[in-house]
Amino acid sequence: MFLLKKVCLALFLGLLVFGCSSKNDLREWMKDSPKVKILSTTAQIGDLATEIGGERVDGWILIQGDLDPHSYEIVKGDDEKFARAQLIFYNGLGLEHGASLSSLLRGSPRAVAIGERIRDSYPERILKKDEAVDPHIWMDISLWQKAIDPIVESLSRVDREGASYYRERGDALALKMEQTHKEIQEQLSAVPSEKRYLVTSHDAFQYFTRSYLAESGESDRNVRFTAPEGLAPDGQLNPLDIERIIDFLRSKKITVVFPESNVSRDSIKKIAISGKELGLDIRICSEALYGDSMSGLSYFEMMKSNADVIKRYLE
Ligand SMILES: [Zn+2]
Repeated sequence: MFLLKKVCLALFLGLLVFGCSSKNDLREWMKDSPKVKILSTTAQIGDLATEIGGERVDGWILIQGDLDPHSYEIVKGDDEKFARAQLIFYNGLGLEHGASLSSLLRGSPRAVAIGERIRDSYPERILKKDEAVDPHIWMDISLWQKAIDPIVESLSRVDREGASYYRERGDALALKMEQTHKEIQEQLSAVPSEKRYLVTSHDAFQYFTRSYLAESGESDRNVRFTAPEGLAPDGQLNPLDIERIIDFLRSKKITVVFPESNVSRDSIKKIAISGKELGLDIRICSEALYGDSMSGLSYFEMMKSNADVIKRYLE
């Protein structure tokens, strides 16, 4: 009994410490300090910004954990974070389309749309779906690497003394990203071409598919990837969507569909059930992919995990 009480107390204290850590960190971030205060909407952006900024910056992620960046709306306390930040990095390209967040971002002179800066410099590398721009550019490491320059420039603008420091760290990060991009390309090229087809919860993997699953020079980017839900997960699935996916599964002889870590599995389950009813051999991958959310992983961990899981289940 005594031991049980001790275990309960330890668990309680653990929860207390763990549960409060995020709030404490935020309190620290809100305090005055000589460091540059950066607010990033997503973890994918925040990871790059703090890697480049190193010890000269204090970073905070606005859309935490598994929340959906497509639909995120401002909550109590967010206004203060915006007021505190010297730089606000966001994806743009229609990703953060919640009305309250979108208007705050568009109205701030300190906000930099990293994805739109990349699109302006490399328009030919931006993908669309039914005429809408696909904002999931972080899913191709070689394209996400193009975020380094706008981040270095923005940091150097607000902290001129740190300019060479940021450049150096940006260059080192670029090398690491190039390396990881090549490793994932090699890793997935080992999967036979006729098996390199992907179905996930929503349209977050078009860039990933172009970079890591398609044959070089393949013109139709969608030919190896499809998803029941659109560019933003909306939980809507009509009979035509199901029919479209089932046709894709059948024609490409696909036997596994992949859930995403922060998207409801309902659509993927419906696809698997419908497929089975029609006699297809379909299973749901037991490990989730990371699309919009990193679920606490670093950017590199997220991309490597995606590549590992996809390779193991497609082979
Ligand atoms: Zn998405």
